[in-house]
Order: sequence, then structure tokens, then C-alpha cells
Amino acid sequence: MKNFARFANRGVLMNKIGSESVDQATASEQYQASVERHLSNDVGVSAENARAAEWQRAASMAARDKLAERWVKTQQEDTNNQERRAYYLSAEFLIGRAMSNALAALNLDKDFATEMKKVGAEAADVLESEPDAALGNGGLGRLAACFLDSLATLGVPSFGYGIRYEFGMFSQRIVDGKQIETPDNWLAFGNPWEFPRRDVFYPVQYGGWVDYVNGRPVWTPSERILARAYDMVIPGHSTERVTTLRLWKASALEELDLAAHTRGDYFRAAEARSKAENVSWVLYPDDSTPQGRELRLRQEYFFVTASLQDIVARHLREFGTLDNLHEKVAIQLNDTHPALSVPELMRLLMDDHGLTWEAAWYQVSRIISYTNHTLMPEAIETWPVGIMQYLLPRHLDIVYEINRRFLAEVERKFPGDKALLSRVSLIAEDGEKRVRMGNLSIVASTKVNGVAKLHSDLMVQTIFSDFAKIFPDRFTNVTNGVTPRRWLSQCNPGLAKLVDKKVKGNWRVELDKLSQLGKSAEDKAFHADLTKVKTANKERLAAYIKRELGITVDPNALFDIQVKRIHEYKRQLLNVLHVIQRYREMIANPEADWQPRVHIFAGKAASAYKMAKLIIRLIHDVARTVNNDPRLKDRLKVVFIPDYRVSVAEKIFPAADVSEQISTAGTEASGTGNMKFALNGALTVGTWDGANIEIAENVGLDNIFVFGLRTEEVEKLSQEGYNPRAWYEGNADLKAVLDMIGNGYFAPEEPTRYQPIVDTLLTRDQYFLLADFAAYVETHRQVDVAYRDREQWLTKVVRNIAGMGMFSSDRTIGEYCQRIWKIKTK
Ligand SMILES: *Cc1c(COP(=O)(O)O)cnc(C)c1O
Repeated sequence: MKNFARFANRGVLMNKIGSESVDQATASEQYQASVERHLSNDVGVSAENARAAEWQRAASMAARDKLAERWVKTQQEDTNNQERRAYYLSAEFLIGRAMSNALAALNLDKDFATEMKKVGAEAADVLESEPDAALGNGGLGRLAACFLDSLATLGVPSFGYGIRYEFGMFSQRIVDGKQIETPDNWLAFGNPWEFPRRDVFYPVQYGGWVDYVNGRPVWTPSERILARAYDMVIPGHSTERVTTLRLWKASALEELDLAAHTRGDYFRAAEARSKAENVSWVLYPDDSTPQGRELRLRQEYFFVTASLQDIVARHLREFGTLDNLHEKVAIQLNDTHPALSVPELMRLLMDDHGLTWEAAWYQVSRIISYTNHTLMPEAIETWPVGIMQYLLPRHLDIVYEINRRFLAEVERKFPGDKALLSRVSLIAEDGEKRVRMGNLSIVASTKVNGVAKLHSDLMVQTIFSDFAKIFPDRFTNVTNGVTPRRWLSQCNPGLAKLVDKKVKGNWRVELDKLSQLGKSAEDKAFHADLTKVKTANKERLAAYIKRELGITVDPNALFDIQVKRIHEYKRQLLNVLHVIQRYREMIANPEADWQPRVHIFAGKAASAYKMAKLIIRLIHDVARTVNNDPRLKDRLKVVFIPDYRVSVAEKIFPAADVSEQISTAGTEASGTGNMKFALNGALTVGTWDGANIEIAENVGLDNIFVFGLRTEEVEKLSQEGYNPRAWYEGNADLKAVLDMIGNGYFAPEEPTRYQPIVDTLLTRDQYFLLADFAAYVETHRQVDVAYRDREQWLTKVVRNIAGMGMFSSDRTIGEYCQRIWKIKTK
């Protein structure tokens, strides 16, 4: 163990450098020694033979030890202080890798590379060998992960609660241009970050029936499994505070049916176990439409009941009474996935703890709040009453009683309005009876928030307008944010260093300080530094593209990037239409001085979403055609980067010149990818939608490219009767582009491959691509011109970064604390 020998020299070191850096040097060396100890004792390999993945496990365990110390201290503080805690319930946490973030939080990041080098390991390879924790689909899950980072950093007494999926978001492979999903076995080599809490488990019951004994309900379930706690410590930055992400794993009550085993019936012996464990087996690979039906409902109830039992048990431990539960507990529902919290908390309080309905409701309605993430009615969950009756009979009873009381209240306020009653009812009665989880969440909530100003306004004007009338004070806005630690400091160290030079104060935890960059907006030397950093980031991405796809792209070209889930409303297809139009123009006039561009796409399509998958295929066919056309002389390249996930996103955002945020106005609730791009110095091409609007307000309208129909115009066009074919006939370019797609130009081996795309565009075009096409193409002409004026462009870049202060998730969490949870922050 040659490396322990270094400690002998520490005295010499101390004489050489100041005391603070001695502490730092000591901390780094101690950490390194701990890594080597874990490598030998837990991973079981020698430093000489260890591979990157083995170093990674050892390094994680060593970091986890240090976080555990912080965890114990934080827990003790919170128990002593008895302040209100925030509980963030989310079916998804899209965390990504933990290692770099942990090292940064522990202030060990700077020396890590040097220390690893001394033992012959490459830090970059070690970090790259960590699998992503991908327990989420997209923006909603990533938001939850950013929130945990901010809860810890702000020191908010808090827990995140979710599901420890055995298989997270599927991995995406592309074969012949087609998406192939493969299971994400992220736990294959264990999870060095988690603490299994073997003494923390709760029963989870399903099915059976409800009897009324002396008027009191008694639920006799037909199935019982267990939820077991696994904790991940989430470190805060510039603080020793941490928060906890407690994830539940399903297990059987009895691991083994011994009687069956003794009979030799081994299949039966293991059956209960596999049936139980099935509940936390897979993440539903869909973030917009409810599906997977019964198992999904089982999952939702599973993590809700375990989390609530845990919260109640903690409260009783600390206070010995439930009388003040609502003063000490704030529960946030991330979308409706945890909406069963409403009847479940009622059930726990009444059936298990003897509260009256009135007393229980008083508490529940002061504890729970709900965040809405979509304006599309079809994307708000509903559950057939039949399934609820079968799986959760007691909860259905409670939902009916909440509804009875609520509708009576509405009838008192708005007498005789039958239509209103049926619209706001918790039960949809048209067709198959269903429970409306959005309505249920609203009725029980202290506050209901949207996630960007426009979205919150539209929420009360459209889908929830009836509720806004009934509960005028309940609705509010909290605009989303992203953590500047992961999304600037860690993913873009070059830019972070430039910011360090220009900005006084700790911008990593006070992002508002970025506004100081404003004074350097026209500083030529700063522009040169920024260009160097951006070019290096583009080279890094180009190398990744070369390695993954074998495609060569020029880091000096303009990088135009659209990365996000593939969805029709996000309009990747509009982007493709523009690329094809540009291609047409270039081959018509190949000698012109075209701005070289690389158009980069990435994103997963839900496995059952045919149209989204067809769009992925079209991108690949267009890429094949364009990338191999010698007339273009490499001035236009199209790249689809497979398997979009957090760790890939961290390579992509810093390399972007242009950020594509082109959803149909009124459809993207907020977006957070838009924020990550702008924070990393990309200029947005965007519609007047979601948080794009607030980004425009903060960076200045001159520094963003806004195009297309506004929400009111979309609405008006829709009411007048939108006829996409007329737009097609009326624009020769658009017609030519669609004809190329329809005629099989990009798929000569199967000319009808993209007929379904052309058909939907010409007959329905639900998302108004054709109406926005001309404005979009024109905007990109302006982008080309602007990009060539380097000083002007870089001034805009600086003004973008400088204006992003408010988009820190620290600001977002501060607002939740103040306006919704009533929790003081320092
Ligand atoms: C930020 C992020 C998202 C959300 O992107 P939008 O553009 O807001 O839809 C989705 N997936 C990953 C991996 C992200 O990092």
C-alpha cells in the first residue's frame, strides 16, 4: 500500500503552504486513503489491477462515508429543531451520476484527478464509468432531482420520497435508424451510494373489502407486501447540510413459502416473492399518457402509503401526538402520480389513529399541495372506478365521501349549476366511470401551482377555470429552475472558471450574482475567452459524436441543438422541416456562402408512441441523405445522439450555440432544458411558450430569437377552423419540403415510409407546424446573419448568461418554502 506512505510527509507539506490549503491537502489525502481502503476491503482488488469501474465504486463508497457523517448531523439538527419539514413526493427522480456532484459538495473535486493519477487511474474514465441513476422519464423527474439539490443547499429540513425501480428509464439504441429499447439494469453492479435501511419497512395492502363494524370501516385486504427503505444522501453545496432521498423497494412479507418449498414446489415457493417485487420492478417509460394500468396504480399507492406511514411514524416519534401534524409537515405532490396521498392520509388519520373526518380533513388540506405539469387534459391521470374498487376499496369510499362533501359546498356557492357540478366532480361519469386525480389533488390542496407564468395563467383560464372560481386563492405560480451546480459548475468547468474571474461572491449558491457579467457584455477579451471555452466544449462533443457514431463534425460550425423527449408538441418535426428546407436551398445554390451548421438531436420516444418513433427514423434518414451529399461540402450535418440521459446532457448543453425550444405556444408547461442551454451561453430560438417567455424577459428580447404564433393566435386559428392544406398550398417551399418527405426522397428503398407524417400534417396538424414554418425558417436566416457578427453574437451570449440568475432551482425552492410550505430559509 505504497500510497499510505504519503502521510509520512505531511509535516513537510505543512511547512510549505498556508494552513487552509494544508487542511484541504489533508482532506484530499485522507479521502484518497479511504478510496484505497474501500478498493481493497470492499471491492476486493489491488490498486495495481483495479479498472476504472472498480475505482469508481471505491471512490463512491469513500464519498458516501463522508456524506454519512453529514447525514447524521443534519438528522440530529432537524430532530432537535422541530421545524416544519418539506416532503417531496415524486414517482420520478432523474438523478444521473452522483460522483462529480458529491466530490464538488465535499470540496474534493479539484484534487481528485491528481490523486487518481498518482495511483495510475484516469479520473475522467473513473467518472465516466458510473451508470446514470435514471429513475425518471424527462423534465418532471429531472426537476425533482434539481429540487433535492436545492433543498439540501438551502438547508431545508426535507425528504424526497420515490420508488427504487430495479430498472429505470430504458436505454435507447438505434438500429437502421429505428429506436430499440433495452432494459436499464442500473443496479447490476450494486449501488454504492445507497444505504439500505433494513429496519425501516411498512406494510402495503391491496384488494379485499371494507366492512362497517358499528359504523366504523374495517378494510380487510387480500394482499400484503412490504415497502423497504433505501436512502440516498443528497449533499448540499457550500454547506454541510444534506437531504435524504428515500426510495422504496417492494418485497414479499415472507421471502419464502417454506411449506411449498418442503413439498418440492419451488416455483410456488418463489412466486409470492416475485409477485411482490414486481411492484418496484420498472419505471413506466411514458411521461404523458397514463398506461400500464393496474401495475402503475399499484406503484403509485405503494410509494404513497410507505412514505405517509414513514412521515406519520417520524412525527409520532418526535411529538408523541398527531394534533400538530399539519404544523410540522408539508407534502408536495409532483404531478398527480402521488395523488393517492389524499385518501391515504385520510385513511391513516381516521382508521389507524382515530381522528374524525373533520379533524382529518382539517389536517390533510393544510398539509398537501399539488404541482401541475400539463395543460393537456388527456395527460392528466384518471383511474377507472372499477380498478380502484378492486385494488383500493377503502380509498374509493373516501374519495366518494370527499366528493359528496365538496359537491355540496359547490352547490351552496353556485346553486343550481348542474353542469359545473359534473365538471368539477372527482368522478367522471361520461362513459366508464373514472376518478379524476387532478380534481382530487386540487380539492385537498393548500396551494396548486403551475411551473411557469404563462402555464399558471393558462391553468386558471383553461383546464382548472372552474376550480379557480371555487377556490380563488388556491392557485399560484412557481417558475421552475435548474441547479447551477450540475448545470454550469460541473458540466462546464471552463465557463465556470471564467465566471469565477468576473463575478464577486458565490454565484454557485447565489445565481443572481451572474448579473455582474452584464458589464462585460462588450468586453472583447472576455469574448475571446468565451470563444475558447465554447470551442473546447464543441470539440469535446464532436469527439463524443465521432466515438459513438463515427460521424465527423466541425467544431467551428454553428451547433444547433434540440434535445428533449420526442413528442409531437415539442415539434422536433418542425426542426426537421427547416433542415430539409435549408438542404434544398443549399443544393439549389451550392456556391453561396452558407453558414456551416451541425443540427443535433437527441431524445427518447415512449415505446408505444408510433409517431414519435417515426420522427426519430425520419431524422436518421434525413441525416443519411444530407451527411452524404458531396454538394454540401460538409457545411450541413445532421446528427442524432442516441440514449439521451443526464450524463449525455451534461456534454451537450455546454457545446450549443443555438437552443431549439419550439413547442407550439401554450403546450410546454415550462421546460428546463431551455434554462440549461441559456445558462451555458446558447441563444434560444423559441416560441412564446413556457419559461421561454421569462427567459426572454430576463435576457432581453434583443438576445433571443422569438418566432411563431402566440397562444391567443393558436387559439383563434383553431376556432376559425385551421386548414393545414391551405398553408401547404400557399407556400411553395413548404410544399416542396413535404412533397420530398411524402415522395420517399429520404427513403428510396421504401417510398411510403413517411406517408403517415405527411398525412397528419396535411389533414390535422394538431400542433400547427405548417402555420409556423415560414416564420421559423426566416428566424434561422436571421440566426445565420447574427452568428457571423461575432462580437454582436458574443455580446448576446454574455447577456444571456448574465440574465439567468433567476432560473436557479434555489430561487424556485425558496418560493415553495415561502409561499406554499411556510418554511423559513436562511
Ligand atoms: C433537462 C432535461 C430534460 C428536460 O428537457 P426539456 O427540454 O425541458 O423537455 C429532459 N431530460 C434530461 C436528461 C434533462 O437533463
